[in-house]
Amino acid sequence: MTENAQMTADDMMPAVAEHERELKPALRKGWAKRCPSCGTGKLFQGYLKVHHDCTVCGEELYHQRADDGPAYLTIIVVGHVMAPLLHIFYVHVVQDPLILATIFTVGTVAASLYLLPRFKGFMIAFQWAKRMHGFAGKK
Ligand SMILES: [Zn+2]
Repeated sequence: MTENAQMTADDMMPAVAEHERELKPALRKGWAKRCPSCGTGKLFQGYLKVHHDCTVCGEELYHQRADDGPAYLTIIVVGHVMAPLLHIFYVHVVQDPLILATIFTVGTVAASLYLLPRFKGFMIAFQWAKRMHGFAGKK
């Protein structure tokens, strides 16, 4: 019998669990635009540019590959909220197209600007927690 054959599933589980990162706290930190590791350091320098590494704990953040994901999520959410609202507003509140266009242009831009960096932080935190791309490194 080889050494590997004698190991049970219980023998292997603690090793796996030690290296897992908790997903929900990381996602909350990412949504708050904070480092998914420590939750203290800022994730972005500016609006969407990600820090090379965390200024507080030193966690490397440049491994992130959010790419177009945050923009797609923002479009999906804002579109699915604004489309029914437009219908409701037109039927029950305002029928003037110029007023409707003004309200919904401002609302859509504001909602998109609010959600985009949060979805990006969320995605980076997800990648960090799941050890995707270069986040597999250290503990
Ligand atoms: Zn940090």
